[in-house]
Amino acid sequence: MAYKITDKCIGCGACAAQCPVSCIADKGGRYEIDENTCIGCGGCSNVCPVGAPEEN
Ligand code: SF4
Ligand code: SF4
Repeated sequence: MAYKITDKCIGCGACAAQCPVSCIADKGGRYEIDENTCIGCGGCSNVCPVGAPEEN
């Protein structure tokens, strides 16, 4: 199941740096997941300091 990044995102970039399929992009201060590429590994959720990524 793909993840999505909620409004809690503070734009730190930690998730994008570790995503194994590089599907998280900087959208000007906050980040977005390409849900068609995300493999649902949960890595972004594990590294996020504010719990912004959630299962879609
Ligand atoms: Fe990338 Fe995994 Fe997060 Fe999907 S769940 S965006 S594959 S780190
Ligand atoms: Fe946003 Fe969390 Fe990703 Fe940082 S790790 S860019 S706060 S979703």
